[in-house]
Amino acid sequence: METKASEKSPLLFLGHGSPMNAIEDNEFVRSFMSLGKKLEKPKAILCISAHWETRGTCVTSAQMPETIHDFGGFPEVLYEIQYPAPGSPELANRVKDLISATNVGLDERRGLDHGAWSVIKHLYPEADIPLVQLSLDYTQPAQYHFELGKQLSKLRDENVLIIGSGNIVHNLRLAAWGKLNEQFAYGWAADAGKLINDLIINENYSRLINYHLLGEPVKLAVPTPEHFLPLLYILSLKERGEKVTIFNDKPVAGSLTMTSVKIGKN
Ligand code: ZN
Repeated sequence: METKASEKSPLLFLGHGSPMNAIEDNEFVRSFMSLGKKLEKPKAILCISAHWETRGTCVTSAQMPETIHDFGGFPEVLYEIQYPAPGSPELANRVKDLISATNVGLDERRGLDHGAWSVIKHLYPEADIPLVQLSLDYTQPAQYHFELGKQLSKLRDENVLIIGSGNIVHNLRLAAWGKLNEQFAYGWAADAGKLINDLIINENYSRLINYHLLGEPVKLAVPTPEHFLPLLYILSLKERGEKVTIFNDKPVAGSLTMTSVKIGKN
């Protein structure tokens, strides 16, 4: 029997920003924490992170994936963080079975990158929910990712929480690095953020898939696809009538936004 939209697991796109959000106390992190308290505990989490790009599509299939510190130049304390959530070979195989668009590879060696653990640790600090990551195939266009995302829809009936982790406005080359904790946006970043939010709310997904046609501000906001594509996975799974909530909708360091999206349940 088909599960009603109101009973499906919610969908999240989380703006992860700087890896320091893993250990800092700020309003973005606090809203992840309060969201985590409101969410029902899922059976498992599938995360599509900006920080795992591969040729072809892979899923992590380790029983106990290690915590990867895939960044450089941050304080030592950040490299000591562990997020010991178990993996789920069962979910990895389920994802492989569900996706017919390509032959999904099982990667037993890959651990959890900071796109996943730096935000999920605030939702589920106990690290007791099995966590699997799905990679982004960097050889494929946005439309392909949107279609691939749709093939995960059954997971929403199986109490699996699907999380995309990236940043909607993400131009590190233009970031004001000395002002990482300051909330301000360059004009183009504010314009791009507003335009994309409007397209999310109005469900104009075809324009979001063709984001390269949205004009100069969006070109600057999305200079490379990997932080934007996880959003498309989440949007591709939205069912008719589900509520869309935008939160953490603030800029940092001029050229980044922490904008996050919740779809569905509650
Ligand atoms: Zn990132």
